Amino acid sequence: MSNRTPSWGTSCPAPHLPPLQPGSDELAWHASARFARVRVVAWTCHEHRVTWYELCQGGGMSFIRRMTAKGAAVVVSYSHAWTYVEGGAIWLALLSGQAR
Ligand SMILES: [Zn+2]
Repeated sequence: MSNRTPSWGTSCPAPHLPPLQPGSDELAWHASARFARVRVVAWTCHEHRVTWYELCQGGGMSFIRRMTAKGAAVVVSYSHAWTYVEGGAIWLALLSGQAR
């Protein structure tokens, strides 16, 4: 996956998101978790960014968790849940600035 994602000037191992592209999709974000047990399968950089994203799988579905640091707290939001294939496609769109 890292080969497809341009590095934005650091040697950070986690991807940094590019600027949002014109005409990108706006994802819907919800405050509540849909699944109690989730597995994080991919993530963006959280060392250099106040907002980062995690691709999660749970209950046979795939969804994205958005984390935003607000002072000492972290605000968590959740996307819709998709199939693994759909979730993977949306994750790639997010990494390329086509969705956020
Ligand atoms: Zn970084």
